[in-house]
Amino acid sequence: MNKGRVVIVSGPSGAGKTSVIKRLLDEGDLPLRLSVSATTRPPRPGEVDGVDYHFLSKDDFERRRENGEFLETFEVFGRGYLYGTQKSTVEAILRAGNSVLLEIDVNGMLQVVKHYPDATTIFVRPPSLEELERRLRARKTENDETIHARLEVAEQEWQFKDRYQHDIVNSDLDETVERLKQLLSN
Ligand code: 5GP
Repeated sequence: MNKGRVVIVSGPSGAGKTSVIKRLLDEGDLPLRLSVSATTRPPRPGEVDGVDYHFLSKDDFERRRENGEFLETFEVFGRGYLYGTQKSTVEAILRAGNSVLLEIDVNGMLQVVKHYPDATTIFVRPPSLEELERRLRARKTENDETIHARLEVAEQEWQFKDRYQHDIVNSDLDETVERLKQLLSN
């Protein structure tokens, strides 16, 4: 894998994206580091500050945004939660000679490729929207309202899958991880 590469992975939440990425990074034979995003969303059980996200107050996030600290920001669910990629995070990883993986939404991808036109873009999705709904319900971390909001976002994001260089259907975790490893080893 070329060092200094920017890799963007998007896909609806519930697509298994986070598990795929975790495996890819844990198996560790790639010089690839995760860009930890900032968010104003409260942590879910088990999420750790600085590992899963930098959990920021809305004021702190807004202040950093005004200071131009973000490569891109986005309000993902229209519920007031902000997400963003800090320039310093991406630059530090690249400067250390590694490639950087960004797990961001479609809008984020469209912003980041303006700065890094050579980025590798990957859309990870379940076989169908019906399957996505099943997975979201099985996760049992969210209420009905949130599930509906996520499905609506997923339907919108689905329209953008052709804007990615790679559209990967995640039916089997092992297979998907292998495909990504292969794809990134070129
Ligand atoms: P979750 O709340 O489930 O952790 O993430 C919701 C969505 O936000 C995911 O689809 C994820 O890709 C996206 N996301 C996470 N961090 C960022 C970020 O820094 N920028 C953008 N644009 N989207 C993000």
